Amino acid sequence: MKNIKYIFTILILFCFLGSCTKSDKNYAKASFEAMDTWMTIQCWGKDCENAISIAREEVTSLEKLMSTTKEDSHIKSLNQKSENTLLSDQNSVVENLPPDLLPLIDFSLQMAETTKGAFNPCLYPVTRTWGFTTGTYKIPDENLIKEKLVYTDYEKIKFDDEKIILPAGMMFDFGGIGKGYTGDKIIQILKNHGAEYGILDLGGNVQAFGTKNDGSPWKIGIKNPVDEGIIAGLSINEGAVITSGGYERFFTGDDGKKYIHIMDSFSGYPVNNGLVSVTIIAESGAYADSLSTALFVMGIEEAVNFWKNNTDQFFDFILMKQISSDSEEIKLEIIYSDSLKDKIQILETSCVEEIKIITK
Ligand code: ADP
Ligand code: MG
Repeated sequence: MKNIKYIFTILILFCFLGSCTKSDKNYAKASFEAMDTWMTIQCWGKDCENAISIAREEVTSLEKLMSTTKEDSHIKSLNQKSENTLLSDQNSVVENLPPDLLPLIDFSLQMAETTKGAFNPCLYPVTRTWGFTTGTYKIPDENLIKEKLVYTDYEKIKFDDEKIILPAGMMFDFGGIGKGYTGDKIIQILKNHGAEYGILDLGGNVQAFGTKNDGSPWKIGIKNPVDEGIIAGLSINEGAVITSGGYERFFTGDDGKKYIHIMDSFSGYPVNNGLVSVTIIAESGAYADSLSTALFVMGIEEAVNFWKNNTDQFFDFILMKQISSDSEEIKLEIIYSDSLKDKIQILETSCVEEIKIITK
């Protein structure tokens, strides 16, 4: 009898431990609004709910650091100081920066250098003039744009581990890199807190990490830039799939033309080169996000050359250009890098006129 009792107790203990391990390795999901968009985080592993709640706190604190519009944001206040400094005829703002902001500024300026200014995190004086940050859109006077472009020369910014020297009138806008940078931070936090694999959707920017239990790849859809739904599907193991779309934020001017929120850094005008969507697939979110904006600005030819000559981090691209066929139907030309060949599937072929695969 004593033996039976003993075995029974061990069995109960075993079941209890078993269920503990099972519930320990869980799944959690959270959707919330942040950085002017909807975000969804899903992860699998140990204690995922806790991991996600810590990641959400990080999103809130990053938004407080880098937003150009939030009242209590660090960048908003730095931009304001820079403007006031200009108005009071002084040369520059010298400011100590919170340690969390330095890597973002550092990497953004590196990407500006790498893309020869196609990605420029200092375009705020210009984007603001067009009303893209406030939603009160207008076509600015040509001279005003030229005047504002003077304050976008990122090479003039100096900084070290502690402080930044920002020439008066210069202002940051991390809209082209912020969500990718945030995605990288979220993944680091999730991993540090026990997540084994997971996927984030930060307003259409998708980042996946780890290998699923069944070993199958992550399936990621690319939005159709000229219609509803998904135009292509991608199967990837892990990494960032980040799209800049001309369809995301734009306005139609009094002249009947469409003006999109991605700026040609050199002219100060919204990009108008036929591209409607640029997707970058890379390991890092910040890298993919800044490149999606940069390649959009470059246009097809320059973008393809940039990819061919790139000796930096590895990346793949999908460029979509709008072309009008004879019947005036909207048709697309899709151009992608060859290592995507076995990973991409075009799902909506009716609006695709041509597909080009680029090799190095
Ligand atoms: P989305 O916001 O649709 O994800 P992007 O990543 O391309 O697309 O970011 C666009 C945002 O980046 C704009 O709203 C603006 O804040 C900023 N931006 C616009 N043009 C540039 C540029 N040439 N370089 C860097 N940032 C830019
Ligand atoms: Mg971007």
